[in-house]
Amino acid sequence: MADCKHKSCGAGEKVWMPYEVKGRRRGLKPHSYCVHCGVVKNISPDRAKPMGFYTNKLARMPITKVQLRLVVKELECVGFDDTYSLTGSEQEKIFNSVVQKYCKCVQ
Ligand SMILES: [Zn+2]
Repeated sequence: MADCKHKSCGAGEKVWMPYEVKGRRRGLKPHSYCVHCGVVKNISPDRAKPMGFYTNKLARMPITKVQLRLVVKELECVGFDDTYSLTGSEQEKIFNSVVQKYCKCVQ
């Protein structure tokens, strides 16, 4: 699933699912899903950010180039740049745990 190039279903095939804003239910909304792997697209305001946002962030951290490469490599392995299905807060959690794994000094 991590390497799926997601392709949204047609407008008429969308599925009605709970829609959340900041963890609060806001009723049902039609969601697209991927016709290849079936994952439902995240349409909440808590959007995932592109990989570039996080590599910029890493570049400003007090870590070595080797650490930076290890972190980016692992993020790519876990499908971190899957902005289709991940939320921004899920991304933050993954990012922080991977950074802590390779760069123990960074908070
Ligand atoms: Zn997919």
